[in-house]
Amino acid sequence: MPSAIRLLHPSARDSALRLVREVADFVFASVCAGCGVAGTALCPACAAALVPRPVRVQAGDVPLCAGLAFAGPAAAVLRAIKEDGQTTLIRPLRPALAAAVQTVRAGLGESRSIDVVVPVPTSRAAFRRRGFRLPDALARTTGIPVLRALVPARRIQDQRGLGERERRRNVASALIADRAGAGLTALVVDDVITTGATCAEAARALRAAGFRVVGAVAVAATPRRG
Ligand SMILES: [Zn+2]
Repeated sequence: MPSAIRLLHPSARDSALRLVREVADFVFASVCAGCGVAGTALCPACAAALVPRPVRVQAGDVPLCAGLAFAGPAAAVLRAIKEDGQTTLIRPLRPALAAAVQTVRAGLGESRSIDVVVPVPTSRAAFRRRGFRLPDALARTTGIPVLRALVPARRIQDQRGLGERERRRNVASALIADRAGAGLTALVVDDVITTGATCAEAARALRAAGFRVVGAVAVAATPRRG
């Protein structure tokens, strides 16, 4: 009796086999994005390290909050998403972002409403390289309407390797809101807060367009030295 696979046209059989092999590779080659242990995409210890411990950062007059310190498994998972495109790892970061949103909201006093979340725009080069925009994907997990109101006003140099003052200069007037805020309360969303310069610039651009910016949130923030 012919097996099902022998009934397939040779080219269809080849592509079926290729698919199975790809799936098998994925399953067997899977290592924990947090620590590299084999056999799982995220081991229990690293998953536990993603339990939120909100971190506040002050940058100018914008309250910034991140769900985790950018260190250890949290940093490794964010790198795996951004550099290796492991977008399934966005899901375990949801509680960290939610905790950051909750912390900002708790500081708002009586009126705790946030009308929209506005993702920090991703450079066109980064979008081409990754095929997705992490701040947008994260913003969609908050349950608050997402408004992509910010666009780059000019080219921004890669922030890596820049100090705090250089970062501030690099992003000064780098963003622009492409619609009027009309008094909407907005919360800025980014993936990682390093010095807070990008979030502060996002807040400035939104305020200039008439948004009421209540703060900025990220999954993780670089611990401050000194
Ligand atoms: Zn692990």
